[in-house]
Amino acid sequence: MEDSISKDKKMAIGIMGGTFDPIHYGHLVTAEAARCGFHLDQVIFVPSGRPPHKKVQDITPTEHRYHMTALAVATNPFFHVSRVELDRPGYSYAVDTVAAFLDQYGQDIDLYFITGADAILEIITWKNVKFLMEQCRFIAATRPGFHLQEANHLPQEFLKKIIFMEVPALAISSTDIRQRVMDKRPIKYLLPEAVEQYILDNKLYHP
Ligand code: ATP
Ligand code: MG
Repeated sequence: MEDSISKDKKMAIGIMGGTFDPIHYGHLVTAEAARCGFHLDQVIFVPSGRPPHKKVQDITPTEHRYHMTALAVATNPFFHVSRVELDRPGYSYAVDTVAAFLDQYGQDIDLYFITGADAILEIITWKNVKFLMEQCRFIAATRPGFHLQEANHLPQEFLKKIIFMEVPALAISSTDIRQRVMDKRPIKYLLPEAVEQYILDNKLYHP
């Protein structure tokens, strides 16, 4: 009986998109909380190739960001990293990534797009958001300083596809980590040691 139930159950996949410049414990804790909270079979981290909202000269080359992400997820058997946005030319849009996963896995999956709550507030500006809303659910991690009322301006049809999830108050951000490296302040315990070592070895973010 149990077998037939588990066979019928669609695979649930979380997509965790980001610039990951660098990846840090805020991202990892959020992904793990989403995986456990929503019984996801796996979480795929998708480093953004060319984020439409960031200047290309302000972000670290894709291969460094990919490697740091791969190092960070290596210790969790449910986490994977995808090159789908790195190998696709042009701007990276969530809608193209979701379409690529649907192509790869067929329609037989439940897709959950994991983002920070700050990012979800801008969802209206995302490319082809209507298709996105039809194809997946959104898990929005509330970051320190975020108040749920801030999402009230979103249309009801969007809000019903968004699940807000509280993660431990992690004020960690990549911007702060980059600034710390620049200022020669410690970044230890904000991100996995392997990523810290990679940053040192490759002299990333140094002035
Ligand atoms: P930057 O400071 O360069 O913008 P970031 O720390 O915000 O970097 P991103 O790569 O931009 O990291 O974020 C990827 C996703 O992870 C976004 O949806 C963002 O909202 C979310 N996120 C980032 N940091 C945290 C955190 N500390 N807790 C929860 N979610 C986070
Ligand atoms: Mg950000």
